[in-house]
Amino acid sequence: MFFRRQADTRCRACGEKSHLSTVGDVAPTHPGPFHTAEFSLILCPECESVYLDPAPDTDDLRVLYEESLQFADDHYTSPEQVARILEYYGSAIRNLGLLPDRNARVLEIGAGFAWVSRASKDASPSCTTVAQDVSAECAERCSWVDRYHVGSLEEMPQMEPFDLASMTHVIEHLVEPEAMLRSVSQRLKPAGKLFVTAPYRPTGWKPGKGIEPWKSYSYLHVPAHVTYFSRQWFTRVAPRHGMRVVHWDARHEDGQAFELVLQRN
Ligand SMILES: [Zn+2]
Repeated sequence: MFFRRQADTRCRACGEKSHLSTVGDVAPTHPGPFHTAEFSLILCPECESVYLDPAPDTDDLRVLYEESLQFADDHYTSPEQVARILEYYGSAIRNLGLLPDRNARVLEIGAGFAWVSRASKDASPSCTTVAQDVSAECAERCSWVDRYHVGSLEEMPQMEPFDLASMTHVIEHLVEPEAMLRSVSQRLKPAGKLFVTAPYRPTGWKPGKGIEPWKSYSYLHVPAHVTYFSRQWFTRVAPRHGMRVVHWDARHEDGQAFELVLQRN
């Protein structure tokens, strides 16, 4: 497998100078229209992340998130599915020690149906849950959220800091993920935690395996998924914002998704 080598340039994900290489070209998986139909996946050997180039622009993001419903089918509302999802988040909260025993404050970013808030209320009824989402689609349907902020995290009023923040299948959508880490860190208490889940890469993928495994990867969403992160990316970037990696597990869904906890200093 041969990569087209790119000139020594800066990685868009980690910001470091890097010998970036092109994994291959990928076509949009969403009908669009987008500002281009020609996207590639780029690998940074410094931070080991794979990212979409070009990133979606402002109009593309509008097409993706404001002009289409994300939760229209019953995939997220059938009782069996609800039980399965809550079991996952409930066990993550227990096993990773994400919540203090009493009066925890939980911030769920890009919340949608706010599963982490719901599992937190189940695990610790004294907790306070704040959800944020740019879409109002789910805001009226989450009785387990004490305060549902519709708008960006930057626009959310300053409030008492949080013990736990979560971004579940959110960070891969962000054009500026490092800026989000900075904003979240500013809203956490000292020793507060950020719980992240996101797509990782196709099962067993290594750089030498090229683009083919990506084409059948269920999490290849072009251009919605902007970056496929690595442990190395978080290890490099989190300390710039006063956080460190305390848990990493990339075995989820046969190695296609990861689970991460960052802790604020
Ligand atoms: Zn990088």
